[in-house]
Amino acid sequence: MLDKSRLDARGAGDAALGRRQRIVGRTTLPATYTAPMIDLSGKSAVVTGGSRGIGRAIVLRLAEQGADVCFSYRGNIEAADTVLAQVGAIGRRRRAVQADATDPASADTVVKAALEEFGKVDILVNNAGITRDDLIMRMSPEAFREVLETNLFGAFYATKAVTRPMLKARSGRIINITSVSGQAGQMGQANYSAAKAGLIGLTKATARELASRGITCNAVAPGFVETELTSGLPDELKQQIIERTPLARFATVEEIAYAVAFLASEEAAYITGQVLAVDGGLVMM
Ligand code: NDP
Repeated sequence: MLDKSRLDARGAGDAALGRRQRIVGRTTLPATYTAPMIDLSGKSAVVTGGSRGIGRAIVLRLAEQGADVCFSYRGNIEAADTVLAQVGAIGRRRRAVQADATDPASADTVVKAALEEFGKVDILVNNAGITRDDLIMRMSPEAFREVLETNLFGAFYATKAVTRPMLKARSGRIINITSVSGQAGQMGQANYSAAKAGLIGLTKATARELASRGITCNAVAPGFVETELTSGLPDELKQQIIERTPLARFATVEEIAYAVAFLASEEAAYITGQVLAVDGGLVMM
């Protein structure tokens, strides 16, 4: 937390010396002051699909920045327990809820658990996602539906579930994890590309609908990241992706988590309805 008395004292000192002042929120800071960025102390967050991969990195990053975290997972209890222990070691309150993102009632359960545990939800990260890749001519309607239901419907259900507490608090941060596939389309991913493109539309509609109550909604669009989701990609395809990526590598999960933490912070208060690509320059829009 900012030490206000110290800042005021420094600001007054600078004013006496006639130095240039700038206004940050309600605190007058000297122009040279460097704020500790991304301070999430006292905030509480809900992360869907927080037991593995990018979601796990997001849970740990938000906790490192000071937030208490409640996360959902689908079935991997062992992975969820490991993350709970890691958040505990960081010193934050935590809760894990086994809840299928495709079930509207489960979204309410997760949000209710966070409210019981922390009394509020300041941050929602819609991260739970799956792929069921195939060419359109071979893709089953079930594979199409399952991917839409997890990646897109799941985000809608969770957003709906946090809306009431966030409206009441007149503040909130909603961050949706979309993908370059939703921005540019990807062969063999008609279902996933459609879901992630839909998530971008949902992000913008949510941003417009909730802005007047101080709630922002943004999306992070990762390029290719080393997780279990991408571990099955053929080596040849991985090599092609690396060659097409200006920064010439896959992202780390931590690089995605930092972008999420920024969008969850006070520093991002004037950013809403945006898609932040964290993709090594793969898709420049
Ligand atoms: P992983 O497969 O590594 O992890 C997925 C996580 O989501 C797990 O915690 C899993 O829980 C959970 N999950 C999956 N389905 C459900 C469900 N129905 N209900 C609740 N939780 C669920 O995936 P990634 O970390 O790679 O992906 C995370 C997000 O990032 C996804 O939205 C994905 O589309 C997106 N993304 C990933 C990219 C990549 O290259 N990896 C690139 C761009 C976007 P459990 O452990 O119980 O199975």
